[in-house]
Amino acid sequence: MTHQIAIVGAGPSGCYLAQALLKARPELDVDLIDALPVPYGLVRYGVAADHQGTKAVARQFARIFERQGARFFGNVHVGRDVTLDELRSAYDAVVFAAGLAGDRRLGIANDDVDGVFGAGAITRALNGHPDAGPLPDLGVRPLIVGNGNVAIDIVRLLGKRADELSGSDLGVEQTRWLAESGITAITVLGRSTASQAKFDPVMVKELGKLTGVAIAIDKAGTADDERGKKLLDALAAIDGHGTGVRAIRFVFSHVPVSVETDAGRVTGLRCRTAEGDDTVIACTSIITAIGFEDTGDLPRADILAQADSDAPVYAAGWFRRGPRGTIPDNRADAQVLAADILADLDGTPAKGVRPVGAIFEGRPDVIDYQGWLRIEQRELAGADADRCRGKICDRAAMIEAARHQEETSP
Ligand SMILES: Cc1cc2nc3c(=O)[nH]c(=O)nc-3n(C[C@H](O)[C@H](O)[C@H](O)COP(=O)(O)OP(=O)(O)OC[C@H]3O[C@@H](n4cnc5c(N)ncnc54)[C@H](O)[C@@H]3O)c2cc1C
Repeated sequence: MTHQIAIVGAGPSGCYLAQALLKARPELDVDLIDALPVPYGLVRYGVAADHQGTKAVARQFARIFERQGARFFGNVHVGRDVTLDELRSAYDAVVFAAGLAGDRRLGIANDDVDGVFGAGAITRALNGHPDAGPLPDLGVRPLIVGNGNVAIDIVRLLGKRADELSGSDLGVEQTRWLAESGITAITVLGRSTASQAKFDPVMVKELGKLTGVAIAIDKAGTADDERGKKLLDALAAIDGHGTGVRAIRFVFSHVPVSVETDAGRVTGLRCRTAEGDDTVIACTSIITAIGFEDTGDLPRADILAQADSDAPVYAAGWFRRGPRGTIPDNRADAQVLAADILADLDGTPAKGVRPVGAIFEGRPDVIDYQGWLRIEQRELAGADADRCRGKICDRAAMIEAARHQEETSP
């Protein structure tokens, strides 16, 4: 009897872990369980719609199911549909790779007023996540707080003209939202100096290709290390770019102090400068792109404590490390964890319970890998002329597509 491993979360960290486990021991039973009816986590719902090259990693992950024998159990919310105890009693090892989907808050006065939005909520809505709320009214002068690549993704999408989104999988509603936003100015603001910002220089330079914007960089300063110098070079390369209708301004070394409001509407962000002065940057909305945290959906602290002490439970990816690192960073992590799990399983007899029977039986809405392929097939067939995919954004419609046997051609 072979060991059976449940991985909660079919995002990059779960997929890389399944890949590493099955490469080392092809005979293992590895099940990826996801709350969504579809696999790949933030590859589908975080990575920007106009970065299809990055999303293409999904083709690599597909091989885990198609060639390595991993199974997908989608539309199963662990903690609600299935408990941790149920998983522990059925599987020989349970790995939490459930990501971190909560938007970290600014932690300043008025950071919860209407008009302050989290980057995760916005990027999920832009990517057609089935549980995302509607795209909000940002007004004509949104301000993005954050100096990482998620902030760049948002400013790039807000700055793009309709023709620059060709080839993406941005949905009809999202395309209309961008086209009708009426945005005239976007501020990107960070606490750190420019050289310490977390932007990837390649992502910064990409902004220099936008045709409908005018970019200005405020006081980039100097750098004393190679990485910082590269970043300042990238910022200098886009400073002064374009004469378009949307002004993009980068502001550094500003520490947010409070959200300014008038009659319940956001009017500005009060900040403290490096010189210790107070200044208010006018804006009509604020998008916080300052990192992600636990949603409270799973008892993360308890799980991490168990993962540290109790061999059958493990944690991977953002869920374990915090919201740091790109998709490839999860690969190295997964290889180390796979070796740990295999070492723990060595010499331990397999439980031998068929978890699919014990746990998933009788749940008609569980989506398997073939079901995902049917969803994907319908999305590819339903793409508009200049889109690579027509994403199905509604959970019931996904389930219906997954069940549509006639369309099967995996
Ligand atoms: C907006 C955004 C854009 C990004 N863009 C890039 C990029 O362009 N390039 C790049 O390299 N990196 C990018 N990243 C980083 C990259 O997405 C992460 O490194 C990676 O997704 C982390 O993988 P993960 O598997 O730990 O988490 P996730 O990708 O979040 O996957 C977690 C999975 O767990 C599932 N899950 C959660 N809770 C439960 C539960 N209770 N039961 C069952 N399943 C559950 C979720 O549905 C999800 O599918 C971006 C991140 C964000 C937020």
